Amino acid sequence: MRIECIAIGTELLTTRRLDTNSVWIAERLAELGLALHRKTAVGDDRADLKALVEEALRRSDVILCTGGLGPTFDDFTKEVFAEALGSELVEDAQCRAELEAWYAARNRVPSANNYKQVLIPAGAEPLRNPLGSAPGVWWRDPAGFPGRRIVLMPGVPREMKRMWADHVQPRLAALAGAPVHTLRMVVGGVPESTLDERTGPVRKKHCDLEWTILASLTHVEFVVRSGDAAALEAARADLAAELGPDLVCTGSGDLESTVLAMLKARGETLAVAESMSGGLLAARLTAIPGASEAFLGGAVVYSAGAKTQLAAVDPAVLAAHGTISEQTTEALATGIRARLGATWGLAITGNAGPSVDPQGDVERANPVGTCLIAIAGPGGVESRRFVVPGDRPDVQLRAAGWSLDWLRRRLV
Ligand code: AMP
Ligand code: MG
Repeated sequence: MRIECIAIGTELLTTRRLDTNSVWIAERLAELGLALHRKTAVGDDRADLKALVEEALRRSDVILCTGGLGPTFDDFTKEVFAEALGSELVEDAQCRAELEAWYAARNRVPSANNYKQVLIPAGAEPLRNPLGSAPGVWWRDPAGFPGRRIVLMPGVPREMKRMWADHVQPRLAALAGAPVHTLRMVVGGVPESTLDERTGPVRKKHCDLEWTILASLTHVEFVVRSGDAAALEAARADLAAELGPDLVCTGSGDLESTVLAMLKARGETLAVAESMSGGLLAARLTAIPGASEAFLGGAVVYSAGAKTQLAAVDPAVLAAHGTISEQTTEALATGIRARLGATWGLAITGNAGPSVDPQGDVERANPVGTCLIAIAGPGGVESRRFVVPGDRPDVQLRAAGWSLDWLRRRLV
């Protein structure tokens, strides 16, 4: 079955917006054991869209589109499909009632152009959109194109995802056949190439499964798929044995949720003092629901004054060693731990760049990419220094991720 995805919207062809819908859809298809053979982004241009739709109808069995279902002048996805397939758009009575109810619930009345949204191609089936006003379309076997499935979904990612889950996923699953099982394992602090080498024998042993390695700045992810649940479980056990303490978690978690869960299980707490990462670590931790059970809080200690006032760093330590030093970073970790009464205090300093004074003393000692991390805990305080590649946001993100992975290793 040949499946293609079309992302519709002029903004997707600029730097203003990334087409995230197609990436998400590709991932959901993979879970069904299906794959895209092509994806395209096209602007809000009738002629361009029509030409693409005509091509897609020739080459694909399933056409998944997002965008252009709204009420405004640049939304014409349904019209273009209807035209390409020689079909009429007709008002759907139930969609009209739902549109009016949607507006009534918000104390508003639809404007004339909103009614455009309840026009559905004759022969197609409307898909409800509980999160927005534009219904989607499921169109099976359009005249002249037997066997084709056309799916039109909203561009707004949350509306699209809900419609996918409610209506599209079940219909495609019926076409896909046997279910595909997915195993996801997250690995921290090991470079992708090392990991690739180390896990080679396990992948070879389980070569009937479909393996993917995805590296990001803070971790590496293994995604393994198979229709055979027992084979997948055997691969999981072998991979877990090979990874040992490098394995962060299995399933849907991540580094943040794993560290928080470990702290919770131990009845322990964490406080952070962030200089170079500017609060990024705290933001990542608080993005996890229930973080407050283990994460007490912290301070963004960017200036010398903030370091002494908020994390009780002795000004003499700062004066003697400077900000980017083991001594100051350890003092920050110890200080924030004491201030908040936490089990663990974690501090991050460093030089995220860009280089301002490559000839200067500070940068010679601490080149761009230098990260210093300190962890203070019941057994005392320890620090580590490393230099990572990347631009400013990359260095900040790596420092936040690596510091958390180091704490995780202390907790294992
Ligand atoms: P539309 O349905 O075309 O009116 O799009 C509604 C909103 O969803 C706009 O803010 C779009 O930028 C956004 N959007 C549309 N298509 C995508 C896509 N493929 N990925 C991410 N966002 C999108
Ligand atoms: Mg649009």
